[in-house]
Amino acid sequence: MMRVLLAEDERASRMMLGSLLTKWGYEPLPVEDGKEALEILLGEEPPELALVDWLLPGMEGTEICRRVREEFKEDVAYPYIILLTVKDQKESLLQGFEAGADDYVTKPFDPRELRVRLSVGKRIVELQRALRYQAERDFLTALMNRRGIMKYLEGEMEEGGADGSSLSIAVLDLDHFKKVNDTLGHSAGDEVLREVARRITSALEGTRGVVGRSGGEEFLLVFPGCAEKKAFEICGQIRRYIGESPVKSVKGDVYVTASMGVAGYSVGWSLDDLVNLADTAMYRAKAEGRNRVCLGNGACEMEDMPKTS
Ligand code: GH3
Ligand code: MG
Ligand code: MG
Ligand code: MG
Repeated sequence: MMRVLLAEDERASRMMLGSLLTKWGYEPLPVEDGKEALEILLGEEPPELALVDWLLPGMEGTEICRRVREEFKEDVAYPYIILLTVKDQKESLLQGFEAGADDYVTKPFDPRELRVRLSVGKRIVELQRALRYQAERDFLTALMNRRGIMKYLEGEMEEGGADGSSLSIAVLDLDHFKKVNDTLGHSAGDEVLREVARRITSALEGTRGVVGRSGGEEFLLVFPGCAEKKAFEICGQIRRYIGESPVKSVKGDVYVTASMGVAGYSVGWSLDDLVNLADTAMYRAKAEGRNRVCLGNGACEMEDMPKTS
């Protein structure tokens, strides 16, 4: 159900709009004060649709529009704002749009008109949602893409930094993948990438681990609330699962293996610090013979080695 901020100071009008919104399948979030409305629109997970009265105590509707547009960040939802007002002169309409309103309804309004204007807003909000989703998705594997997984990691680092819970990541790179393309062709290579993505995802089931495709044949895994030893163990399972059975492609069975580097986050590190450490560990796994997992500053595991504890 789409949430709609309903900023209206007149009680009767607010009640009436609230029940109309509910009847039309929206979830109204009623507020009486302009400042409160702005706080919600600039807060976490703001509603994507807003009905904002022009005249409000605390802050006028146009000022709310202006502030929301000023502080808009590209990667959060863009709220679609419909200004509600008794002002019906042309000048006010121009002012409202200049302040950043998406639409304008004058009171007293015809409920049928408000309803269709809301559905225009809903359509735009849904299109924007789809665009935001696609901007963070990898087309081939349907995993998060680099941008998506990096953003996710950044969020987890902020939280881990705040509450001190552990956080680990892993970089996974397929071994000699160029050979798959060279011998079986690019589309078989694509099939392998899709299947590897599926295997990683399925190996992560039941953990809080999340994976994205960070580059061509490279994946980034994020393990929230997970110390590096534990992440190292899970990665060993993932590595074995990827390598243990061939991927069925149109060109026949393809065996692939992966090298992985694991790193645990320490408070105060930048995103680059963390990813670089995992990257370095992954390159060590390559240098030591591939098909293995190496820990940031420590041990490597592979099939024939006793596991380090
Ligand atoms: P290494 O074990 O050292 O990682 O060797 P590698 O061959 O995997 O590494 P290299 O970086 O030389 O080659 C990566 C290859 O991945 C090259 C490129 O053709 C392939 N690749 C990258 N993206 C895609 C993709 O989207 N589809 C397919 N089919 N291949 C891709
Ligand atoms: Mg009012
Ligand atoms: Mg590779
Ligand atoms: Mg690579």
